[in-house]
Amino acid sequence: MKCRNDSYRRPGIPGVLLAPFLAAMFGSAAGAQQCTVKPASIPLGQTVRLSCEVPATTARLKGRTVRLFKQTDGAWLGLMPVAVADVPGTYPIEFLAEDGTSVASVSLTIRKTIFPSQNVVLAPQIEALHSTPEEMQTLTTFRDSVSDVKYWEDPLVAPLPGCVISPFGVKRLHNGKPTGEFHAGIDQRASDGTPIRAVAAGIVKIVQPFNVLGGTVAIDHGQGLETMYLHMSKLNVEAGARVNQGDVIGYVGATGRANGPHLHWVVYVNGVPVNPQQWVTLKPCGAAKTKLKGK
Ligand SMILES: [Zn+2]
Repeated sequence: MKCRNDSYRRPGIPGVLLAPFLAAMFGSAAGAQQCTVKPASIPLGQTVRLSCEVPATTARLKGRTVRLFKQTDGAWLGLMPVAVADVPGTYPIEFLAEDGTSVASVSLTIRKTIFPSQNVVLAPQIEALHSTPEEMQTLTTFRDSVSDVKYWEDPLVAPLPGCVISPFGVKRLHNGKPTGEFHAGIDQRASDGTPIRAVAAGIVKIVQPFNVLGGTVAIDHGQGLETMYLHMSKLNVEAGARVNQGDVIGYVGATGRANGPHLHWVVYVNGVPVNPQQWVTLKPCGAAKTKLKGK
């Protein structure tokens, strides 16, 4: 999509025709200063921070609309996810007032991103595990709910200190066969029974064993941010509980579709899984895994 600046720079437009373009451009430029998109250029699977000094209740990137929330300092903040399956390119993020009128338009560049493949060896009885329709519905309901209250604060903390065995976004093969799925979270190395901590404050929404995910805890941190922790051996919270950052919510295990004890955890931004390593700093496990990270 062509932005207004390109039209303005195009040579040979007579001044009389340029006037409306200039008016449109300055209108847009004023809005752009009042609303920002950070970072302005990102890889697939990452999160964009939206901020407006003027009231903007929603923002739209192509077909995706997210809410912005008024903060105590008067600023309007929101989180825009860029999905792994999105198409790289430069697009406008449109900020809208409550009545649907456009407040500002700021461009975002989504960069081409190469995600490597990774094979996971699973025992036949583990590979055969499948989610039930009820389980799928529970997860959908969780992802679709965005609480208005902001419980979380920067920075998030790592749920445990282990290095990253498998990063976000890798294309997954099970026993050498492509699954058509990508790794929607990250795997951290940890031994059985290691405490798992909430990465931020929030309300616990799911505490239950799932067929594929194993022992699971899911937390709504508010205003578009959610996290989920899988394969636990023991769950240490109850649904509905308010947790603080660093609270122990469960213990590492190998329940569900897992080939050994580790923590798989997921960050959802407005229902879209995004790269947790944009939110917390973690080390990859050794040189071989560094290559897997890609760029
Ligand atoms: Zn995993």
